[in-house]
Amino acid sequence: MDLNYIGGDWVPSRSGRTLASCNPTTGETLGIVPASDASDVDAACRAARAAFDRWRLTPAPRRAEILFRAAELLRERKEALARLMSQEMGKVLEEARGDVQEAIDMTLFAAGEGRRLLGYTTPAEMPDKFAMAVREPVGVVAAITPWNFPLAIPSWKLMPALVAGNTCVFKPAEDTPLCACRLVELLEEAGLPPGVLNLVHGRGEEAGAALVRHPEVDLVSFTGGTDTGREVATAAAASLKRTVLEMGGKNAVIVLEDADLDLAVDGITWSAFGTSGQRCTAASRVLIHTAVFAEVRDRLVARAEALRLGDPLDPAVQVGPLVNAAQLERVAGYVALAREEGARVLCGGERATTAPLDRGYYFRPTYLDCVTPAMRVAQEEIFGPVTCLIPVRDLDEAIQINNSVAYGLSSGIFTRDLMRAFRAMRELRTGIVYLNAGTIGAEVHLPFGGMRATGNGHREAGQAMLDAVTEWKSVYVEYSGRLQRAQIDRD
Ligand code: NDP
Repeated sequence: MDLNYIGGDWVPSRSGRTLASCNPTTGETLGIVPASDASDVDAACRAARAAFDRWRLTPAPRRAEILFRAAELLRERKEALARLMSQEMGKVLEEARGDVQEAIDMTLFAAGEGRRLLGYTTPAEMPDKFAMAVREPVGVVAAITPWNFPLAIPSWKLMPALVAGNTCVFKPAEDTPLCACRLVELLEEAGLPPGVLNLVHGRGEEAGAALVRHPEVDLVSFTGGTDTGREVATAAAASLKRTVLEMGGKNAVIVLEDADLDLAVDGITWSAFGTSGQRCTAASRVLIHTAVFAEVRDRLVARAEALRLGDPLDPAVQVGPLVNAAQLERVAGYVALAREEGARVLCGGERATTAPLDRGYYFRPTYLDCVTPAMRVAQEEIFGPVTCLIPVRDLDEAIQINNSVAYGLSSGIFTRDLMRAFRAMRELRTGIVYLNAGTIGAEVHLPFGGMRATGNGHREAGQAMLDAVTEWKSVYVEYSGRLQRAQIDRD
């Protein structure tokens, strides 16, 4: 059995209750972890608070050395971690390796900040006066993460927070607790002092909700669904906690009539069905110029039908199972809704039930047409291998449809026309825009996050990540030896 990690000790839940981690390919139990309640969360938050002063006063370059060591350990264990991830949540091995690589990249990128964490100096408006702005850690950071990127997303939250001098309480998704354990073990081995990082397993409504409400938590960094994010934000607001929210998406790829269609079909297939569509950046809508609609549709459908479903550990397999029964039900429910709304299922549209797929939560890659932009399937996040194909007359209509949903995470456009590409870059209301690529493929040194219902204005990764996990402090230094009143003593 795996355990919680609190104040440097591996411990069971106080209640003794447990949760199982199951393989979505076979249904077998992979491991058991504690089902924590508010008392476990309380112990973890107190441990994080107790460790905070010592950690924030540890020079940042020293903090960073621990992260550099952690990156080395991640690199050494990349294959084992990727295999565990494929088994625990079903993404194919090649993608699981990518997830671990993203964790390595973020750990190295954050570690590099140990010798930067830049503030700035600026002229003061008075003579013989010095002004600077410096960063300070926020305090105790609660990291609440989803299952679809079991190592990458926790790393995006934990590594910047730690290098900046915060202590953390990590509540991973209940579907991927074992990946979380391996990450925390590795950080312990790299030399993180007791209490600096604490791990509390458990259900969102219980352990997660207790963490958001805990008075010792200063910042809640959450990635998950928009409805959950709204609950988190509402609960955190009661005690004026800071929140960083990364939530859902309803991302579109635009294909104009002058596009390289081979490239577009490759990019859309990857964006729609990578991780079985369970990515916040998945391409859930394809807006295709009417002049090439039929050709692109037929080519996409042929590619989707040729995708190989199966055991994610098999290198020939391209699409793994959905993460659990609830996800399968949700995706099937959206296809049923699409039919009711008048959409047509071009391919897939059902659970894959041929043996041995019937043991897992497999859903066939699905394209829908006869979809109008206002339908619920074209507006709501499905988070599965289901993508709507929608014809558009021109770029203006494509932009208007792209921007008509509540979310604003990612968009892509395929065109060879520089002028329309630049116009799209400006007008698409998403936090990420890809030109001549699909909607997925973020790199850790650029800001990641979305507009409108996708986020609350913060960004992870890139330089922006530091703003999320630090407070600015402005420092004025007088060396004139006299009272100088800002804005008043001007001459
Ligand atoms: P959920 O919102 O269900 O869960 C996310 C995390 O929050 C889990 O750890 C969950 O615990 C926890 N949680 C659930 N309820 C509460 C609560 N009341 N208080 C505190 N914590 C709670 O999302 P999923 O795990 O299903 O992930 C899928 C969603 O994540 C999608 O909507 C997707 O778009 C979004 N996502 C967004 C990304 C982005 O960067 N914008 C990136 C990746 C995913 P438990 O697991 O126990 O339920």
